[in-house]
Amino acid sequence: SSDVCSSDLPLTRLPNRLQLTEALSKAIAQAKQHNHRCAFLLSDLDRFKAINDTLGHQTGDKLLEKVADRLRRVCSDQYLCGRIGGDEFALVMREIEDPLQVEQLAHSIISDLSLPYEVDQHTLYIGASVGSGIGPRDGEDAETLFRSADLALYRAKDEGGGVHRVYEPMLHAFAEERRILELALREALEKNQLHLVYQPVVNARTGNVEGFESLVRWTHPELGPVSPAKFVPVAEDARLIAPIGEWVLRTACMEAMNWPSDVRVAVNVSAEQLSNPNFVAVVMSALAQSGLTSDRLELEVTESVFMREGTGATQILEQIMGLGVRLSLDDFGTGYSSLGYLSRTRFSTIKIDRSFVTSAAKNEPESLAIIRAVVALAQSLGMATTAEGVENETEVEMVNQLGCSKIQGYYFGRPMPADEARALFPHQQKQARAAG
Ligand code: C2E
Ligand code: MG
Ligand code: MG
Repeated sequence: SSDVCSSDLPLTRLPNRLQLTEALSKAIAQAKQHNHRCAFLLSDLDRFKAINDTLGHQTGDKLLEKVADRLRRVCSDQYLCGRIGGDEFALVMREIEDPLQVEQLAHSIISDLSLPYEVDQHTLYIGASVGSGIGPRDGEDAETLFRSADLALYRAKDEGGGVHRVYEPMLHAFAEERRILELALREALEKNQLHLVYQPVVNARTGNVEGFESLVRWTHPELGPVSPAKFVPVAEDARLIAPIGEWVLRTACMEAMNWPSDVRVAVNVSAEQLSNPNFVAVVMSALAQSGLTSDRLELEVTESVFMREGTGATQILEQIMGLGVRLSLDDFGTGYSSLGYLSRTRFSTIKIDRSFVTSAAKNEPESLAIIRAVVALAQSLGMATTAEGVENETEVEMVNQLGCSKIQGYYFGRPMPADEARALFPHQQKQARAAG
């Protein structure tokens, strides 16, 4: 159509951000003048980064060209589509009769972009998420409507991608809450608002405490206690997980020196921390400073680590195991559960997620079958299994019968402050710190 500008982005030959913003301003002005509605859609590709990282930028660029071709087809000459940058695209609908049209367009974008692509002899699968807003209702100017669609897109990604979300005013409230949390979290370390609690992990046969999992706690003076399930993802997004994770690791290693020398400490490590090559040095330093021997430290990672190939996380895991540190696979069964990485990475323990324990104890056949299969798999690979979240005797008996080697859960102990954990070993003398 007439106002589609020629592009200065040679890669996709689509209009750029500036051109889109101008077109959007114009559409909003027209909508106000003639008392109709316009719409703005933002789309972000799911899993594009993984492809770019593993197969290289050249393949990534070719893929983007194909994405642009498909978008052009979806828009025909009815709508203006352009590229914001990276793997973000946007569409302007100058006039809509019904919000259903936005829904339909978003749906076509998601389904078209999700079909497989043939690039350089590879068959590639990506997905798309879409956020949208309606003008002038959700934004009286281009900048505001852009921000509204962006909040909706953020929501769509947050729900796992592959979906369309429309803007609603509540999204501003969510974003605001997150912003407040992030600001407060930036000061949490220096203001000593973090502490660790320790939950016993017992041997399923003997009931002896074999180790503790360290779990971080944050108490903010006004917000009160904030759950790690809530603030760890915020810390990851805000690049705060590296300093927080380092503090957790150092604190946990030091505390473990107050326990008997055969009791281990487990520390949760987020995938984000493993994308930093410096992490290996941090682990070495935490061990050296505390004097803890490497075989007493166990790092817990989740399956999400393997979804980020190309970030070097697997090499970092190798280096960490080279130090003699153990690795366990946390929350097993809740993620992608692709079994390939189980044979590639020498985990010492697979932790079976609480959800399976709970439902298996209610005799749900699928969960029982899954636990049995995981135990068998772990045994044949020479790995231990920990049943997570065991709360009562029925569950203890069940996981024992199924052959899990370790148990963790409220039944044997809740996460407790450091001094309570120490008190479980009354005869323990403080160990001499290794020099250096
Ligand atoms: P996780 O690593 O799977 O930790 C186990 C969670 O289950 C803990 O929740 C623990 O309190 C809870 N739990 C243990 N036994 C039971 C039980 O019998 N019943 C029930 N209902 N729950 C039980 P918490 O402490 O709220 O931590 C939540 C998640 O936050 C952790 O899951 C972990 O993924 C993350 N997290 C905690 N501390 C850290 C940390 O220092 N670093 C990182 N990166 N993540 C952390
Ligand atoms: Mg854990
Ligand atoms: Mg877990």
